[in-house]
Amino acid sequence: MAKILVIIPVAVVLLAGLAFSVFSKTPKVITENLQNRKTCSRVFSPEFNDGPYYQGPFFDDHFHLPSPPNVPEPKMMGVAMPQMEKDVTIEQILCHFDEEQTESAVAFYSPATFPFFPDFFYNNKKMVNAANLKQQVGNRMHLFFSPVPFDAAKIDALLAANPGIFDGLGELALYATHDKPDSPKLMAIFKVADKYHLPVMFHPDMDELQNTARAAKAFPNVKMMVHGYQLASDMAGLDKLMGDNPNIYYSIDSATLYADRGGLVTDTEEQFVSDFKRDFNKNLNEQLAIWKPLVEKYPTRFMWGTDRFVGWHYSEQISRLFEEFARAFTGRLPKDLQEKYAYQNAEALFTK
Ligand SMILES: [Zn+2]
Repeated sequence: MAKILVIIPVAVVLLAGLAFSVFSKTPKVITENLQNRKTCSRVFSPEFNDGPYYQGPFFDDHFHLPSPPNVPEPKMMGVAMPQMEKDVTIEQILCHFDEEQTESAVAFYSPATFPFFPDFFYNNKKMVNAANLKQQVGNRMHLFFSPVPFDAAKIDALLAANPGIFDGLGELALYATHDKPDSPKLMAIFKVADKYHLPVMFHPDMDELQNTARAAKAFPNVKMMVHGYQLASDMAGLDKLMGDNPNIYYSIDSATLYADRGGLVTDTEEQFVSDFKRDFNKNLNEQLAIWKPLVEKYPTRFMWGTDRFVGWHYSEQISRLFEEFARAFTGRLPKDLQEKYAYQNAEALFTK
């Protein structure tokens, strides 16, 4: 009995010590120094002869950052997600942006999930890596905080502790979590976004046009950025959603343009590229037929994006292909809409 009485407090002390060492460990910080980065350039040389090609700059309205160093993300459809520095560097990303004339991007920043503690658990909720990254990339990236889990109180506390770092919330992958856009959990998040004047990017599941409309009506001052083939599977419904709700914005990116190619996530780069090249002209014509009427109807609320997030999406080859598709697509829009779609509408989201 006496022995047990000794063992229990010892065990408690040991456990507490272990817990403390885990929680107080400094996260691995981004070590990249971008201050002396050389800018890159590339002459646009189209491969598919499908002009006229738009020649101006872009704003990538839907871009996923790899997770911070040493912070593994959960797999997606069995595919491991890339990490900064280990798989892709910010320098490589900025180099592709230079080459594509992508002046800026909405960059989704996901700080990690349990048990790989997010960097805001350290140092009084101050985010080490996000702050470091923002300080280095400036307006080249508008960081959006991608919260896991969807906990409005935690998001509020984090935004309060880290002012000036995040320009929005998202992507909230509702198609994967099966949360409704107008569920109490999401409505609480929109309330926080309203308080901080931040846009929210979310990706609804199938048949969520009504729920999306209810959220948009409840928070008319929150700019809601959506995308995905799920909403686009009912174009008349999407038209009505945008007509009724001036706070809905849509990015025509990979989640829509090549989603039916299926392999955006699970293919190897070689397989995806071979299908993409084979279908380039056909896909371009089909997508223009679908989107051009709506882009003309809502000229200030459609934006270009790439939705890069799997390791090989950050390659030079994909940068070239997506650039050419974007230049061909944009080049066939009416002249006065080209710059709006390519970058001005996205820029306007962030002009205070
Ligand atoms: Zn999405």
